[in-house]
Amino acid sequence: MRWFRWGDAIPAAIVAAAALGLLIASGTKPQGAFVRIDSPSGTQILSLSEYTMLTARGHGHTLTIAIEDDAVRVTEADCPDRVCVHTGAISRETQTIACVPAGVVITVVGAEGPSVDAVTR
Ligand SMILES: [Zn+2]
Repeated sequence: MRWFRWGDAIPAAIVAAAALGLLIASGTKPQGAFVRIDSPSGTQILSLSEYTMLTARGHGHTLTIAIEDDAVRVTEADCPDRVCVHTGAISRETQTIACVPAGVVITVVGAEGPSVDAVTR
């Protein structure tokens, strides 16, 4: 029994691709441009497009944060719940990784995000 033919598969693939495109356009937020890291020791704004490894500290805990492939994630943390590590990578505007025990919040912001100059100066 041959039910699969390329003649059927190609239109189906086009419909699926169009549906996916619609889903992406309507359902997700734009790719972010910067990463804002708020910790008890201050706020940092970093570019999401430059590879960076850094640490953030708060309340006796240390988080290792990696920015790579236009996404940011917490790779290591010594906080008790490690929710921040398990959140994984984020890359879209307004997505956040929060480490409650350390008081660190990582937020992806857009190109025109919260006054970058004011924070870095
Ligand atoms: Zn954590």
